[in-house]
Amino acid sequence: MPKLLSLPEILTAGFLCAVTGPALAAPCETGNFSSWLDGVRQEAAEQGVSRAAIRSGLSGVGYDKRVISRDRRQGVFSDSFLTFSDKLISKNRRQHGAARIKKYARTFQQIENQYGVPAPVLTAFWGLETDFGAFQGDFKTIQSLATLAYDCRRPDLFRPQLIAALKLIDRGDLSASEMVGAWAGEIGQLQFLPGDYLESAVDFDGDGRRDLRKSAPDALASAANVIAKSGWRAGEPWLEEVRVPQSMPWEQADIAIQQPRSQWAKWGVRRADGGKLKADGMQTSLLLPMGRNGPAFLAYPNFQVYLQWNESLVYTTTAAYFATRLAGAPPVSRGNAPDTLNAAQSKELQKLLVRLGHDVGKIDGIIGAKTRAAVKAMQIKYGMPADSYPTAELLRRLRQG
Ligand code: CA
Repeated sequence: MPKLLSLPEILTAGFLCAVTGPALAAPCETGNFSSWLDGVRQEAAEQGVSRAAIRSGLSGVGYDKRVISRDRRQGVFSDSFLTFSDKLISKNRRQHGAARIKKYARTFQQIENQYGVPAPVLTAFWGLETDFGAFQGDFKTIQSLATLAYDCRRPDLFRPQLIAALKLIDRGDLSASEMVGAWAGEIGQLQFLPGDYLESAVDFDGDGRRDLRKSAPDALASAANVIAKSGWRAGEPWLEEVRVPQSMPWEQADIAIQQPRSQWAKWGVRRADGGKLKADGMQTSLLLPMGRNGPAFLAYPNFQVYLQWNESLVYTTTAAYFATRLAGAPPVSRGNAPDTLNAAQSKELQKLLVRLGHDVGKIDGIIGAKTRAAVKAMQIKYGMPADSYPTAELLRRLRQG
């Protein structure tokens, strides 16, 4: 699956952490780095990469300890939606985004005509990934990928990316020296991993090269291509802020549950401006990233596209919300949600849930889909409003057993 959101975010969200255990196929840490690299040369050649591309791509590549220390340093992500979105969606970034939409208006129109993905959605990713191309990273991509592929934690993820990077050189998209980007191998203004670059990059400015680093039209159209392939529905919304009533069947507020918009209207959900929701059959989820007292959104089918990239609801909600702001939506109503649990409390919550027989995946302090489902089940059991949002109050109840 194409990964548009940056890899560090995905790793933080616990997406790829499960790639360990007995099923490893890619050889890692066999012999010293340089003899291991010989195996990569052989595999690339077997996959049809030219000798010239292999030579230029891998010459001078060494094991980069900085990459491994960056990889090990990733902390647990425990910001609430409001804290995180305040940090990432600064006024400055919104203004820059609006200016980019204006500057590239023609390009965006052509992209939307071809792929159905509107400018604000692309611009929000562009801003979050690289501040509109300004910060693409200064790691040598091939060296980063070789280091991560040699390391035995996730070789099955990174070795194919390393081979893909060599294929990009061979195809002429980027030269070896142009392959510079984030520490985990993402390249360009929208931070594509080489495999996605190979599969989905397009030359949109018509200069004959797919250049996702220097060409904004190429980078944006390529992102639109990825989003379109993931099932984006042209002309439909992705996220809309709403007001929720004091009481309603909270257990329905679950990103895994869709209801017709008319049903939400019946339960008293209204538009953010207080007006009535359109009472039609459009299938939507009620998304409460900080529970029933915090911000509230209807998540439309297009929001599922965001969820394909990142299981962190906080990240995906932030990316989608930023896009709505760029499309003209006012700031979200903050409500008065209780604080989000910190990382230690989240781990304790997960341990208590496991003790009660729930599957929360890895006990890592990340509130993913499984943890949310277990939280909801316990809220129902305790007769609490089942909005899937873990609070200190729920933690206290769980401690009592
Ligand atoms: Ca181009």
